[in-house]
Amino acid sequence: MRTIFRRLSFEIKNLISCAYTGHEMAEKHGVTLKGVMNKNELRKLSDLELLEFTSRAAKNEKAATLVLLEHLLEVDVRRAFAADAYSSLFDYVVRGLKYSESQAAERVSAVRLMRETPEVKTHIESGALTLTSAAMIQRHIRAEMSAPGGSKVKVPKETKAALITECLGQSKREVEKILLSHASEPVRLASQELTRQVTATHTELKILIDEETRELLKRAKELSQTSTTAELLKQTLQTIIEKRERQLGKSAPANEAQEHSKPSHSATSTPPEEESKEARNPNARYIPTQFRRAIFTRSNGQCEYRAPHTDARCTSSAHLHVDHVLPLALGGKTELKNLRHLCSAHNQKAAQIAGIAIPAITPTRNPKNAPAKYR
Ligand SMILES: [Zn+2]
Repeated sequence: MRTIFRRLSFEIKNLISCAYTGHEMAEKHGVTLKGVMNKNELRKLSDLELLEFTSRAAKNEKAATLVLLEHLLEVDVRRAFAADAYSSLFDYVVRGLKYSESQAAERVSAVRLMRETPEVKTHIESGALTLTSAAMIQRHIRAEMSAPGGSKVKVPKETKAALITECLGQSKREVEKILLSHASEPVRLASQELTRQVTATHTELKILIDEETRELLKRAKELSQTSTTAELLKQTLQTIIEKRERQLGKSAPANEAQEHSKPSHSATSTPPEEESKEARNPNARYIPTQFRRAIFTRSNGQCEYRAPHTDARCTSSAHLHVDHVLPLALGGKTELKNLRHLCSAHNQKAAQIAGIAIPAITPTRNPKNAPAKYR
C-alpha cells in the first residue's frame, strides 16, 4: 500500500511539474523568463522540467520559423529585397539574414510552395509538414515543371495538393520515396548536384554524369595531362571565363554582347547595319556595342544598383540588363553617363519607380549564388 501511495505521489508530482506554465515554473525556481534561461537557471530544473522547457523552446522555434516564412512570403510577393542591394529572395536570405545557402534554399523553397499552395502554412503550423519536406516537394514540382528542351509545363493545383497531402506526417525518407514514385524522370531527382563545404577552402561537389560525359572527361584528362577531375574542372572554367570576358569586354561581336546584356525596359536591339546611324542618335533606344563594352568594363559584369540608405552594391552578375538611369520617355539620353548594368530584380524595380510597366519576372534565384541542388 505504501509503495502504491509513493508511486502515485511520484506520478502526481510529475504531472504537476509538467503542467506548470513557463512563468509558474520559473517562479518556483526563482528564475526569470524575460530572456533566455542561462546555464545556472537551467541547472536548477529537474530532468522532467528541463524536458518540458526544451519542448516549449522547440515549439517556439517552430512558431518563429513560421513567422519568418510569412515575412519572407510578403518580401517575395512585393519583391521588397530589390529595395536593398539584393537580387533575389535567396540572395537576401543568405547575405541579408546570414543564413547558410542550404538553409536559405530550404526556406525560399518552402515560401514558394506556400505562395502557390496557401494551405501549406497550416500544415507547417500543425507539424504535419516539416520545412525540409515542404522544400523537397517544391523542388520536385519545379523539376516536374521543367520539361526537356527548357519549356515550362504547368503542374495542376490538384496534383500539387494531392502530393502535399500524401507527404503529410511522413519522415524525410518517406517523402523522398513518395516524390520519386511521382517523378516523371526519377533520374532527374537523383542527378541534382550536391555541394558541401568540407573545409574553409574546399567544397565537395557530387554530380551525376552520363556515359558520353564520362568518356569526354577521360579524353580531356588525357589531352590536358591533368591527373584530377578537380584540376581539369578548374582549368576548363578558367578558360571559359577568360574567353567570355575577353569577348564581352573587348572584342565581342554586337550580337554576343547583346546576348549577355539584354536590352532593358528602356533599351531595344537594332539590326547591325543600322548601328552606326543609331549610335550617333542619343535619343535612340539602341545601345551601341561600344557602349555595352564600356559599361561592362565599368561594372565589371556586376549589377550597379546601390541601396540608397546604405550605398551597398548588389552583387549579382546574372542576367544583366543595360538600363537608362533616366528613361528615354522622361527625357533621358542613350549616353554612357545615363546607362548602367542592372540585374533583373533591380531593372524591374527601376522600371516600377519610373512608372514603366514591364512583364513580371518569374522569381528565380541567382544562379551564381544558388547551389545547383536547389535550382
Ligand atoms: Zn541587382
